[in-house]
Amino acid sequence: MTLNQTWMQRSLAHVWHPCTQMKDHEWLPLVPVKSAEGVWLEDFEGKRYLDAVSSWWTSIFGHRHPHIVMRLKEQLDRLDHVLLGGFTHEPAVVLAEKLCAIAPKGLTRCFYADNGSSAVEVALKISAHYWRNLGQPRKTKYISLTNAYHGETLGALAVGGTRLYRDAYAPLLMQPIQVPSPDCFDRAPGEAWEDHTRRRFRHMEEALERHAGEVAAVIVEPLVQCAGGMRMYHPIYLRLLREACSRHGVHLIADEIAVGFGRTGRMFACDWAGITPDLMCLSKGLTGGTLPLSAVLCGDTIYEAFYDDYASYKAFLHSHSFSGNPLGCAAALATLELFEQSDVHSANRRLAALMWGAMTGLSSHRNVIDIRQQGMILAVELAKNPRKREPYPAEERRGLRVYRHGLERGVLLRPLGNVVYLMPPYTITPEQIVTMCEAAIEGIEVATRD
Ligand code: PMP
Repeated sequence: MTLNQTWMQRSLAHVWHPCTQMKDHEWLPLVPVKSAEGVWLEDFEGKRYLDAVSSWWTSIFGHRHPHIVMRLKEQLDRLDHVLLGGFTHEPAVVLAEKLCAIAPKGLTRCFYADNGSSAVEVALKISAHYWRNLGQPRKTKYISLTNAYHGETLGALAVGGTRLYRDAYAPLLMQPIQVPSPDCFDRAPGEAWEDHTRRRFRHMEEALERHAGEVAAVIVEPLVQCAGGMRMYHPIYLRLLREACSRHGVHLIADEIAVGFGRTGRMFACDWAGITPDLMCLSKGLTGGTLPLSAVLCGDTIYEAFYDDYASYKAFLHSHSFSGNPLGCAAALATLELFEQSDVHSANRRLAALMWGAMTGLSSHRNVIDIRQQGMILAVELAKNPRKREPYPAEERRGLRVYRHGLERGVLLRPLGNVVYLMPPYTITPEQIVTMCEAAIEGIEVATRD
């Protein structure tokens, strides 16, 4: 048995892998990774895979970036972990200062958690608790978008709209008020993104008008619904939403977990609209993908609604054992230093243009219905019959064929259903973009052959 096979077998004997039908691995090999560097993952037999999805969108500066590794080692020599209740530490303080400084204006407080779903739970709880503290206990509902994704814990899953993840647990979940997504994939032929997005906002306005008295917050993924198939919309939606939420007395929660830290071409996707949400969730790229950490930012108005004598029982008594873990915070600080050391956004604009140039030829492909891009996210949507807008049935698992072809070619592509997307680390080189795009184009050819 080869080393790869040994690790595969040992893994399948005891590890229950996330987001996986384990039976698939009777015929689909697991990829055991021994080490990683930059955009490359390496298995136990020396085969390398270009990580075109930044390991679930986390490794924004590639794996084991020397600067992050150095800062982490320094931190490990000083302080590994300490509870954040009653105690504090330098990386948590400095990171909170820096996040508040770069975040949209007015976000001045930072609550730490340790993964994206938990950050969403924190934001949902803070919002409803805020209204309770203000004497408005009826405001306990949330408005969310169709096709949204906010995580897997029950609260986060409840405000998600992707049926694949949600349906099995539907009886356990609170019911959000769901509003049609502004997703521009659905726009009429020839319609401008902005016009479509504005038109879709009518549903949100109606929902707010009808339900504001019982709604704590609207939660959205700004600009890109990533897990929902990299569906994108125009920033005008965020501007209209900001104005409407303020007018109706409802919080706006921006889930920037996937799109924050430069992914869309600006530091935060909200920056495209020039808006400040009431609560902003951050994770994934926050630590450069090295360690689990998340943060929820809010402004003084929210913070002060919890600030009172203990006996008022207004405090936010939420905690996670690893809230604000020093190693995670040190990795996050090193990540922010990388943004300070060079003009990442300009460099990304050039890389994004190269990705577009390499993929745009697919627009005439018989089974490509849409190619879309927002910064360092490029998505190609496949369809059985693009003219009739007829999708491939999910059971055909066309994306999986692209995945398998990618693995053969040494490129980790992990399509979302019929959507093949590229979301590489910002440290990818122009040559590596060519390799990645060639594998994706070939994979699409193979996957659409019959
Ligand atoms: N929100 C968004 C927008 C996400 O993309 C994700 C993860 N894909 C989450 C929340 C959940 O984060 P985590 O997987 O760290 O719980």
